[in-house]
Amino acid sequence: MPEPPPILSFEDARHLVEAHAAPLRPRGKELVELLEAAGQVLAEPIFADRNFPPFSRAMRDGYAVRAADLSPLPATLEVTGEIKAGARTEDVPALQPGQAAAIMTGAAVPSGADAVVMVEYTSHDAGRVQIMKPVFAGENIAAIASEAKRGEKLLSPGARLDFAAIAVAASVGRSRLLVYSKPKVAILSTGDEIVDVDVPPAATQIRNSNSYSLAAQVQAAGGEPVLLPIAPDEPERLRELIADGLESDLLLLAGGVSMGKYDLVEQVLAELQAEFFFTGAKIQPGKPIVFGRVPCGRGRLARETLDSPPSHVYFFGLPGNPVSTMVTFELFARPILEALAGMPARKLAFLNARLKSDIKTKTGLKRFLPAILSGEFEHTEVELASWQGSGDIASMTRANCYIVIPPDRERIAAGEWVPVLIR
Ligand code: AMP
Ligand code: MG
Repeated sequence: MPEPPPILSFEDARHLVEAHAAPLRPRGKELVELLEAAGQVLAEPIFADRNFPPFSRAMRDGYAVRAADLSPLPATLEVTGEIKAGARTEDVPALQPGQAAAIMTGAAVPSGADAVVMVEYTSHDAGRVQIMKPVFAGENIAAIASEAKRGEKLLSPGARLDFAAIAVAASVGRSRLLVYSKPKVAILSTGDEIVDVDVPPAATQIRNSNSYSLAAQVQAAGGEPVLLPIAPDEPERLRELIADGLESDLLLLAGGVSMGKYDLVEQVLAELQAEFFFTGAKIQPGKPIVFGRVPCGRGRLARETLDSPPSHVYFFGLPGNPVSTMVTFELFARPILEALAGMPARKLAFLNARLKSDIKTKTGLKRFLPAILSGEFEHTEVELASWQGSGDIASMTRANCYIVIPPDRERIAAGEWVPVLIR
């Protein structure tokens, strides 16, 4: 008899997911337009095609000077002319001792000058400028190649193309970028009571929200959601739909993993030769979370990846209560998805905030409770969002973070610093 899959502590479960995520690679690469690349994952290194800045650049409007000319103060210098941004260096004479040139932010500093005095500290009159404040050599100048040298690597494969990375790509003249193909993430909601959004629900039916919240989370994490039809609590159809889901790079099931008589997800996965790594984590919400993988080649063609063909498709059986579904995706499914998207591993990052009002809870589970960060400037405070439990979707729209409560705490007093996971 194989060992039954364990119920792990939050930390052990998370570490296990991270260990499985580490060797995963994206499926392919594609060339996309720069605008389309925003939010995707870079699949090539990006190099500086020229020096940054390409010339010694004035960082202020003012006068290009030789710093040594400014003592004693005030110093009076002959103004040789005006240098606008974009003016060609060949057209600008070199600065001689005793001279200054009016210069604009972004213009090339003339040879001979080693500093720029801000216009605020000068007065100009009849071809001469009087300077009231000293400058050090190099002040208000971004020296040629000081930000990056031509040929230097500015971005590495795996970088998420946020606005700063997009700016770097634009600045080196890349109007198209090679990005990793987004992993396809199959989403399968289960439950006889679940109906799709545009079907009028009968009195005891519930509209499917999990498929859509998960799709939004998948997109935000760099994946491409593939929504499957809702699976009934019936093994035949469930098996068919799970088999369809295993055609994707990752399968997310929602619902049907609790201890109920019609919670069939694990049973059907076991019939498909699934390996289970855990079938629960000591957390709330989301205790019945299931993580495992199915060998591929059974109802699924092995496909090429960058390194080697994938030998497994990973799946998560997420609890169906909507808040549990959302939280367990973030805590456990996200690292696998990000690895398949080509992103380097990231640790979960918590910040600390002062608790606004007392919390009473029970021991035994690590809790991630929907909460609201407020306060101003460096006085961040946090309090629980009012919620009616893991089914309360509306409470999640009021929350902007989770307060993390360790399993050994029963009461946390207002004023204590508590760990917070930002949503
Ligand atoms: P389960 O995990 O299947 O036991 O479901 C737990 C609770 O979540 C039940 O109240 C379900 O009706 C609800 N639920 C399950 N799936 C969904 C879904 N796709 N959308 C909204 N609620 C759901
Ligand atoms: Mg169910």
